[in-house]
Amino acid sequence: MKPETTAIHALNLVKSATGDVTMPISLSTTFLRGEDGGYPGGHMYSRVSNPNRSALEKVITELEFGEDTCAFSSGNTAGMTVFQALKVGSHIICPDDMYWGLKKQLLTIFQDSLTFDFIDLTDLAEIESFVKSDTAMIWAETPSNPLLKITDIKALAKLCKKHNLMLTVDSTFASPILQNPIKLGADIVMHSTTKYIGGHSDVLGGSLTTAKKNEFWERIINVQQTGGAVPSPFDCFLLLRSIKTLAYRIKGHCENAIKLAVYLETHPKVEAVYYPGLKSHAQYEIAKKQMKDFGGMLSILVKGDATAARKVVNSVKIFAQATSLGGVESLIEHRASVEGPDSKTPQNLIRISVGLEHIDDLIADLEQALNA
Ligand SMILES: *Cc1c(COP(=O)(O)O)cnc(C)c1O
Repeated sequence: MKPETTAIHALNLVKSATGDVTMPISLSTTFLRGEDGGYPGGHMYSRVSNPNRSALEKVITELEFGEDTCAFSSGNTAGMTVFQALKVGSHIICPDDMYWGLKKQLLTIFQDSLTFDFIDLTDLAEIESFVKSDTAMIWAETPSNPLLKITDIKALAKLCKKHNLMLTVDSTFASPILQNPIKLGADIVMHSTTKYIGGHSDVLGGSLTTAKKNEFWERIINVQQTGGAVPSPFDCFLLLRSIKTLAYRIKGHCENAIKLAVYLETHPKVEAVYYPGLKSHAQYEIAKKQMKDFGGMLSILVKGDATAARKVVNSVKIFAQATSLGGVESLIEHRASVEGPDSKTPQNLIRISVGLEHIDDLIADLEQALNA
């Protein structure tokens, strides 16, 4: 099945007693045992599993071509679960522009139990020079935030095989529609389902999908079920509802984003545009090879300083000035001030999550804001 069909029909196998066409929300925290002490309904206690969460995990597994998925209460929890599942003392190689919330976890929660280097993952030779005897994993994020850097997943997977390392890819910006890291050799793919998978800025969640149900995956499942940072049945219901339109929403996001990127590229008030679908993008060829389309995220440098950038984000009328991404509504933000004083993000950078409004309205809004 193609992803459009999987998204809608992967749950057809889950039959409810009342014959519902869509899945009911199952709020029960506990489930009846049979006479033999077993669990005839397949569930025991909802921290361990719940019908809505199992359904969500099944659909994401199919969309990502993996063997199993664990769903979490946030993207950050999904990431943290990987760090918790690693053996104490493990070394991880991470991108220098890693999602700042996950980087903060490593620096302020795992600083005594793990070691890590933050490097430019677009440079394979550089990566290899950082591999040590206790290196356990490479953590990639592509496209990256906020510079939309692209990492060659296939090449990185090859390097990981050579050194016997695991490869985890934070694929949030791509969604399962645009790239499938497991197909390219990754071991684990992570999503903040808060973003494109949720798609409506109204539910927080995260997921991990594994290529193989191996020993490390058992450790992940243990952190999920024993740690218990799981999404509620209602969260899972919302995400399942959203996934049905994911492929078509992504199509719209991509269609709008390339038009906006092309418009901004020649704008006299814009110094640079970062969008992997532009031929001027440093890793355009890799993006073309590993992604079906280029996504709905782009960043620009406006001419001038932080004040010039803030003036633009304060002048828009349709775009909402807010952080996050992947929703139907377009969002715009001055990224450096979201990330705080330690941020390496350029002060004149504006990050845009291109939504599903009509492109003419989005362009007109940015045109008046850039000229304000
Ligand atoms: C938002 C995001 C996260 C964290 O997800 P939450 O759902 O906010 O916890 C991780 N990685 C990327 C790339 C993100 O955009």
